[in-house]
Amino acid sequence: MVSAISEQLPQPYGSRPLTATPVVTKAAPGATPKKYPDVYVAGAEPLGPDEMRITALGTGYPARRGQGCAGFMVELGNDEVFHFDVGAGTNSAFNHMRVPYHKANKFFITHYHIDHIGDLMVYYDFGQSNGRLEPMNVFGPTGQRPELGINALVENMLRMTAWHDRSKKGQLDPRGFEVVAHEFAFQRSQVVYDEQGARVTSFPVPHGIDGAVGYRLDWNGLSMVFAGDCEPSTLTVEHSQGVDVLIHEIFNAPQTYVEEMGWTEQMAKIVAWTKHTSPQAAARVFASTRPRLAVGYHSIIAPGTPQPILDGVRTGYDGPVLLAQDFTIVNVTPQQIVSRMAAFEPAPFLISDRAYLASKGGANQDASVMHGLSAWLEDTIIGIPEIEAFKKELAEKGMR
Ligand SMILES: [Zn+2]
Ligand SMILES: [Zn+2]
Repeated sequence: MVSAISEQLPQPYGSRPLTATPVVTKAAPGATPKKYPDVYVAGAEPLGPDEMRITALGTGYPARRGQGCAGFMVELGNDEVFHFDVGAGTNSAFNHMRVPYHKANKFFITHYHIDHIGDLMVYYDFGQSNGRLEPMNVFGPTGQRPELGINALVENMLRMTAWHDRSKKGQLDPRGFEVVAHEFAFQRSQVVYDEQGARVTSFPVPHGIDGAVGYRLDWNGLSMVFAGDCEPSTLTVEHSQGVDVLIHEIFNAPQTYVEEMGWTEQMAKIVAWTKHTSPQAAARVFASTRPRLAVGYHSIIAPGTPQPILDGVRTGYDGPVLLAQDFTIVNVTPQQIVSRMAAFEPAPFLISDRAYLASKGGANQDASVMHGLSAWLEDTIIGIPEIEAFKKELAEKGMR
């Protein structure tokens, strides 16, 4: 099964993760390290109780079929699932990972560039029809002004979904339409989530204007940092001390943008050097932090780009480093950190968890908020007897 699926779906840059150290051994004598298959088959590997799995759902910019915009999913052995950023393409990647839809209910957004939030509304949509019978929780920082924070962003998203909501509310369970924004001050490091032993801490990072943050997730002695988009910062170094996996952006060299995309040299340098982190600068962050595994993301992974980026990091950092491409999987346990690529069905059904649905009393329809068509438009519908009869039944129940 493993080889059959992975042969069907070759990854753009091979079935191996972009790293020279796919296995990093941690100092934990006494226990035998878990053995993993060469390829992670989506949905086929239950997590151990002391295990964290990080999935790169999107690693670049702009989104193409082979690489989406920014977003990582973290699954914990306690059954919790966290999403860090949800750029365009990340939802599509999530749909291949065989994770029940109601698990996509905690989103931690680092900043509100569109390449980090584009799929938030897509999760909102599919969660409603695929069994999320609870609110979506969206965590994010304040901005310089109220309209630049997560409260305003969610409010505005729900304005955009007005037609969608009006047409679907009632047919789908109303619980799926709830979104709860959790806004916190961007300026200071603080715990923004603390449940079932999992703690998420935010910290500010410099990224163009005030209001961008990174997150650190600690659980069961395992940890990861997702620094979001940022210039290299002592704050990231400070908050990443002792971390297992540090996911930090690494931009391509300005020359890539000049040569491949026709940018002026000045524009390329402004973006790559004064908003983001060059490979050489990432090396400084990694060298000061010494994470067990340094992970780069936000690079354009395209023909010829990975090696120069890794070479740039090597100028100042000699520890384990991985350049994330979409569907890179990192398993973290007390014994080791293992990086692989995922294999998956190219067009799977989405996953709803029947036991979860039952525990929520099943999905409810609410006739009181169902909305119909104007009679003249209804009259244009070409009738099929079986469907006409069903519509009549609905009308008799007051549902049409
Ligand atoms: Zn970005
Ligand atoms: Zn950004």
